[in-house]
Amino acid sequence: MSFRISPVWWPVVAVASPVIAPWLLVRNRRFQENRTRAAERNRERIDRAESLEIPTLDFLELTVLVEWKAEKGFIGDAGVSYLFRTNLGSMLFDVGFGTTRPALTHNAAKLGFTLDQVESLTISHLHSDHMGGIPAQRSRQVAVPDELMSSELKPCFLPDRAEAKGFKAKLVKEPQLLTAGIASTGPLARSLFLFGYTEEQALLARVKDKGLVVFTGCGHPTVEVILEMAGRLSNEPLYAIGGGLHFPVTGGRGNRAGIQFQTVLGTGKPPWQRITDEDLSRTIATINGAGPRKVYLSGHDTCDRALDRLEKELEAKTEVLNAGATYRL
Ligand SMILES: [Zn+2]
Ligand SMILES: [Zn+2]
Repeated sequence: MSFRISPVWWPVVAVASPVIAPWLLVRNRRFQENRTRAAERNRERIDRAESLEIPTLDFLELTVLVEWKAEKGFIGDAGVSYLFRTNLGSMLFDVGFGTTRPALTHNAAKLGFTLDQVESLTISHLHSDHMGGIPAQRSRQVAVPDELMSSELKPCFLPDRAEAKGFKAKLVKEPQLLTAGIASTGPLARSLFLFGYTEEQALLARVKDKGLVVFTGCGHPTVEVILEMAGRLSNEPLYAIGGGLHFPVTGGRGNRAGIQFQTVLGTGKPPWQRITDEDLSRTIATINGAGPRKVYLSGHDTCDRALDRLEKELEAKTEVLNAGATYRL
């Protein structure tokens, strides 16, 4: 088990503790309040949700623009950008770190992708690895590289208030059909210690002769909550789950200056608690209980050891998504 904050920083932490400790206490109070609020909101939303008219697709195909693991010639990064194509159209889901890192622009150019090829952009949640980088998160402005932009104004479906220059920003307030025959669960909340109250939407699609497909961004609301909502919106048997599950158990991606940011920042726990193997065991049991036939794992927010465990212990046929690869879902 590695240190989440390198021992190099410990003297600094010790000296700064008279400032850090009260800040942590205040923050923790807000974190606990948000936790209650998120649980109540999710309960309300799930209880209120009614079956959604989701069209049956002849096919659903995913091409991965950005992921941690990558095919030869593609750049891997700790962000997410997925291109979904169906017989009813296509949609881009998230834009990774946007222009602030080379993966999206490089990989999109290699695949010949621009937003001219899709009807809409959907952003899972307002974090830097999904909405276009740290400045994008700070300013709540989705940031898409110019090279990818379309001259047409297309909708950008958002789970929470934000701007999206060059798009028609559309706030998704509840479960609804988006474009290409793909639906949104609507926003589902999670309290995160440093990022605060966070809303995230997941995608739902129905594929002919297969069943329901559920795709997440980071999966912050937890797979338990997302699957419960999916079950309210469709009684179709679950066929596949894909995307981020957020399990940086032994370490995070994109560590900087000896700090494993993912293990500290977005876990749904206070920074003095880790995500544990027991947490992962619970999620594995939930997924096995839901009984999908396929699972497509994201490596962008889940460590290699957690990916290994998921691949071994999930009963579904499980694979890790690779940037540059195309999957027929
Ligand atoms: Zn993420
Ligand atoms: Zn996130």
